[in-house]
Amino acid sequence: MDPRLAGAHLIVDLGALQENYRILQSNAAPAKCGAAVKANAYGLGIEKVAPALADAGCTDFFVALPAEGVTLRNCLPDATVYVLSGLMVEAEPAYLEHNLIPVLNSLDELRNWSEFARDHGPLRAAIHLDTGITRLGFLEAEIRNLAAEPTLLDDLEIDYIISHLACADEPDHPLNQRQLDCLHYFKTLLPAPLQDTPVSFANSAGIFLGPDFHFDHARPGIALFGGNPTGSTPNPMHEVVKLQGKILQVQDVDSQFHVGYGATYRTEDVSRIATVSVGYADGYFRALGNKAECAIKNNKVPVIGRVSMDIITIDVSSIPRHECVAGGFVDLIGGAVPLDEVAAHAETIPYEILTSLGNRFYREYLEPADK
Ligand SMILES: *Cc1c(COP(=O)(O)O)cnc(C)c1O
Repeated sequence: MDPRLAGAHLIVDLGALQENYRILQSNAAPAKCGAAVKANAYGLGIEKVAPALADAGCTDFFVALPAEGVTLRNCLPDATVYVLSGLMVEAEPAYLEHNLIPVLNSLDELRNWSEFARDHGPLRAAIHLDTGITRLGFLEAEIRNLAAEPTLLDDLEIDYIISHLACADEPDHPLNQRQLDCLHYFKTLLPAPLQDTPVSFANSAGIFLGPDFHFDHARPGIALFGGNPTGSTPNPMHEVVKLQGKILQVQDVDSQFHVGYGATYRTEDVSRIATVSVGYADGYFRALGNKAECAIKNNKVPVIGRVSMDIITIDVSSIPRHECVAGGFVDLIGGAVPLDEVAAHAETIPYEILTSLGNRFYREYLEPADK
């Protein structure tokens, strides 16, 4: 896309992404560190993100859907690709064709993969134990049923036993320890062939719960992309994403001017108002109207009035006139306006902000060598 024709620039720093991978890897060590790159690498573009992670040493990738796995396979022919949503019904040949490894979430899925492996095996898989999120995975009764029928594993090679934390972003939540205890207990129930299978437990926040949660393998996602994995302490990750909106127009108005749909904002004084070419159709949440801030040269300015589909309005009265002109840029995410702060203002989480980012930005990827 020609940047002159776009309303905003989305800048993804692949060097910072790689640095974040190294930080997570060293925090999780000696456990190995993979990467969750579902939903188009949290909205940032899997075709750019996954190869950059591979260059940083990442070999294990987790996607949600087999269709995402096919996309990833096409850009990384040698990567190990796990499909978290499991083995979709009648999709076995596609997993085989594209070398996708299902995370088996139930005994039914395991039976289907096992049966398919009898003709095409041995085949790799991971097995997902549900230790307390009650979403996907084997519960205790199914683990016992598997243990009673270990021949189901004959043609399978199980890379990892995985489980997923529900509350890792709340370090003091009692469910963290309960899930950890449950995982240790479930491991004792596994049949002999799985007793020494490596365990993958921690997501980004789980890595920061300490070594008890590390086991053999971690699967961070959001922290790779700059989201704070530590709950409420300062963010140890580097910033990866910047969103800069283009100024369309700057207007000088008197006091008592209404701004935006619904006239939800009224100027108190003589004001200067800039109109910026980003709206809720770009993933700039409507909830940010009259709430969020953006920044010009690190000076924060408030978003005033409602967010429209293609436009926001900001009060730039405090900014020197020459620093705020049509064609100039405003930081909407990044720099003085951290991703986590934008998410908080939108009453959501950074995951939803990133995965909502729109398709009409000019996307610029900073290659590690550019730094
Ligand atoms: C998304 C996901 C992850 C990564 O989680 P983050 O919180 O983004 O680090 C890991 N494991 C599973 C099963 C997931 O669904």
